[in-house]
Amino acid sequence: MCDCIVIGGGVIGLLTARELHKSGVDVLLIERGPLGGESSWAGGGIISPLYPWRYSDAVNTLAQASKTLYPGLVTELEDESGVDCELLSSGLLVADEGEIEKALSWSKQWSVDIQHITEQQVFQTIEPAVSSEIKQGLWMPDIKQVRNPKIVKALKGSFDYLNIAYLEHTMVENIITQSGRVAGVRTKDKKFSAEKVIVAGGAWSAGLVKDVQKVNVEPVKGQMIMFKGEADLVRRIVLSQGHYIIPRRDGHVLAGSTLEKTGFDKTTTENALQELRDNAVDLIPALADLEIERQWAGLRPGTENGIPYICPAEEVRGLYVHAGHYRNGIVLGPASVQLMVELVLGRTPFCDAAPYAMAATH
Ligand SMILES: Cc1cc2nc3c(=O)[nH]c(=O)nc-3n(C[C@H](O)[C@H](O)[C@H](O)COP(=O)(O)OP(=O)(O)OC[C@H]3O[C@@H](n4cnc5c(N)ncnc54)[C@H](O)[C@@H]3O)c2cc1C
Repeated sequence: MCDCIVIGGGVIGLLTARELHKSGVDVLLIERGPLGGESSWAGGGIISPLYPWRYSDAVNTLAQASKTLYPGLVTELEDESGVDCELLSSGLLVADEGEIEKALSWSKQWSVDIQHITEQQVFQTIEPAVSSEIKQGLWMPDIKQVRNPKIVKALKGSFDYLNIAYLEHTMVENIITQSGRVAGVRTKDKKFSAEKVIVAGGAWSAGLVKDVQKVNVEPVKGQMIMFKGEADLVRRIVLSQGHYIIPRRDGHVLAGSTLEKTGFDKTTTENALQELRDNAVDLIPALADLEIERQWAGLRPGTENGIPYICPAEEVRGLYVHAGHYRNGIVLGPASVQLMVELVLGRTPFCDAAPYAMAATH
């Protein structure tokens, strides 16, 4: 018997279990595959929503809080694991001409530095590799990125260092309830008892709780490609028309991403590769000469408006849902976890928890 079981070893489950452990809770994390092998590995690691002014206050509240938490979190994870998470201050260039007023007014409201760039020369000073066709847009100098596969690896290292219990390659088949309370979970071979259970199953969360709670989370496939270039060929994250470029420190350049509602299918397609490559080359012409080293797909835990569930279940006491972070699980993670842990431990939440409740619109 343990105090709490966390189902799912993506970035949300891992951060949740780690934070609970640090608060003195006896926690066990159970993951169906290897830790962090799904969306949390496949994502881009931009520590900001794309076009944050398009999102609700509920998403921005968590995003802004997380941005403050990230540097400290990364330092802790790196100290505990010895893994460099590659937290980089890349900044974000938005090479679109629309929504300038909306973005600037949002930046005042949230005290985020957004500069309107009206001269092509200035654009190219910020990112020399960007296409000379781009005449104006926005510059967000404070946006950072992490290399998310490294974050996942560092979290695993942190679990080992802190002696946090976890099981990999162990699938939870169902949640056990008794007289309106959660009693634990059942895997193929074993029953695990716990007073509390947190579902952090990413895109699979709705299926995990379907017998006891309706949750609107569905998989949204995102395909990504990776070019192999020289370090510093591109230094900024560049975004245009929903397509983005993320330069890693070692010269790899990611280009993403598609948005596809095709169920739990993770196959990659030639069409997507072409679309991502063409858009990437339009933004950064030098990418045309580079080899595409890899293509992959991940399943985002999609909710209609991108607001995650961070809340207790309605009918079953002791059961919580922490899922549905959609396109922003890496950026929202630390603050979302803080709120989840506060709710589980009965502490005063650092923000209004109502938008993330079961009854709210997700
Ligand atoms: C292409 C792409 C680009 C992205 N870019 C960004 C970005 O730049 N910035 C950003 O913030 N976010 C980004 N995201 C989104 C982000 O990756 C996700 O929101 C985040 O990873 C969700 O984390 P999670 O832990 O909820 O889900 P996951 O990482 O999917 O983890 C859920 C885990 O639960 C496990 N599980 C499911 N069912 C069971 C079961 N029955 N028993 C045990 N375990 C189970 C799964 O195996 C999985 O490991 C991107 C996503 C994609 C696909």
